[in-house]
Amino acid sequence: MGTKQYLIAEIEICNTCEGKGIVYADIWKEFTDFSNQIDKSLSRKEQEKEQENWWNERGYSGWSGNCSSFNLPPEEEGCWNCEGEGKITRQVDLETVLKEILPKLQKS
Ligand SMILES: [Zn+2]
Repeated sequence: MGTKQYLIAEIEICNTCEGKGIVYADIWKEFTDFSNQIDKSLSRKEQEKEQENWWNERGYSGWSGNCSSFNLPPEEEGCWNCEGEGKITRQVDLETVLKEILPKLQKS
């Protein structure tokens, strides 16, 4: 008889996306930071031009002063940490888990 190993699933809510499975895209975070730095004394049209240039520099055209342009990358993307699952599942050896849990149970 070989040595048996029992595995148990350890499920942890992803702390990158807090279980949502999606994260706000980095490029949009950068864009928001950039937009906050634009000189507010410029006219609305000039501000939008600055924003348009910012996107153009990154290879995206079609900024029109709002977020609805479909030429821009999506604002949200699947979480890289949990691959969109919202949780991370690991296989852990049962013995390891019992050693961790049993002392706690005996105390209570
Ligand atoms: Zn995640």
